[in-house]
Amino acid sequence: MASKIPFNRPFMVGTELDYVAEVLNSGSLSADGPFTQRCAELLEQRFGIAKVLLTPSCTSALEMAAMLSDLGPNDEVLMPSFTFVSTANAFLRCGARPVFVDVRPDTLNMDVDRLEDAITPRTRAIVPVHYGGVGCDMDAIGDLAKRHGLTVIEDAAQGVNAFYRGQALGSLGQLGTFSFHDTKNFVCGEGGALCINTPELIERAEIIRNKGTNRNAFLRGEVDKYTWVDVGSSYVPSEVSSALLYAQLQAMDDITQRREHVYLGYRQRLHDLQEREKLQLPTIPELCQSNYHLFFVITADESTRDRLIAHLRASGIGAVFHYVPLHSSPMGHRLGYADGDLPVTENISRRLVRLPLFCDMTDDEQQRVADGIRQVLDVSTAVGLTSD
Ligand SMILES: *Cc1c(COP(=O)(O)O)cnc(C)c1O
Repeated sequence: MASKIPFNRPFMVGTELDYVAEVLNSGSLSADGPFTQRCAELLEQRFGIAKVLLTPSCTSALEMAAMLSDLGPNDEVLMPSFTFVSTANAFLRCGARPVFVDVRPDTLNMDVDRLEDAITPRTRAIVPVHYGGVGCDMDAIGDLAKRHGLTVIEDAAQGVNAFYRGQALGSLGQLGTFSFHDTKNFVCGEGGALCINTPELIERAEIIRNKGTNRNAFLRGEVDKYTWVDVGSSYVPSEVSSALLYAQLQAMDDITQRREHVYLGYRQRLHDLQEREKLQLPTIPELCQSNYHLFFVITADESTRDRLIAHLRASGIGAVFHYVPLHSSPMGHRLGYADGDLPVTENISRRLVRLPLFCDMTDDEQQRVADGIRQVLDVSTAVGLTSD
């Protein structure tokens, strides 16, 4: 039998071990050493972000964003249901209420036409999630936020090195968050960053990140001792993680090109199936530059999706579905949601399959995935792209 094709394989660029060795030999492994600093500066300069603070995860960056936005009971935060649990948890743990908005059927990003209807006098923030590294409709979201006085916090976990109108995802809201988890484009095992595009928030963010102390100001010589000044937690990554991450960030262009090659390879091998309406492929709107975080196909119905995943898995191919919509999870039900509330999200999430996509995936491996899809779909019914 042919070798297995995993869903994901973290890609090492080659300099990671040297950088990690440098840290181990330096005598200091804790946070905010030279590599943490280098990563932050690289991200700030490349993406035009006023301040980047590295964190242990995107989850912790989202928690910091929620704390910085001073959200609490009675506040509502608009976000998609088609996202990872951390997007909602970060706000829920401050006592705010996640309000789920349906998505567009092409990009699976929040549908801005439905966003305005969801705004109430209690709405305080919008959290656009850039699914698969394809930007949300940030012009419309920015306009709405301005008109209603709302904070925009981008969950750009999947959107590192992707752009909207030439501007980096994560640089467009007041705050943004990145992930460097193993499954994302640039990895250090577990890691993340908070992007601060509102300079007035920088000082408080540093304090929250450093256990509620003014340690950063002390290290810069701005105060002569460091002390407890506010509520906070430990949202700092180890210097070992940052060393690993720095190697990856330096290779950002190479990593993105490799992913693009795989993404375009899938598109080329599968586009005739889309023309014959056997499946739907991802869309990248005109204003967006993707980082090719993922490639999905949407089948005609749930049973075709399940047959497709089963067939690919039986052929040793790691194809997977994605989110169980948050509003239809047990926690979503506790928040008062019911199945049927967000029809596009529910419909798409039942029909979506993510294909293996990693930097050193060979053309041969891609062909095997495409062949596997064809073995199921060449005999299936049409997707009915317009029948939603
Ligand atoms: C991966 C992901 C997260 C969580 O990232 P961690 O770094 O694992 O905490 C949050 N939101 C979205 C949309 C993600 O894809």
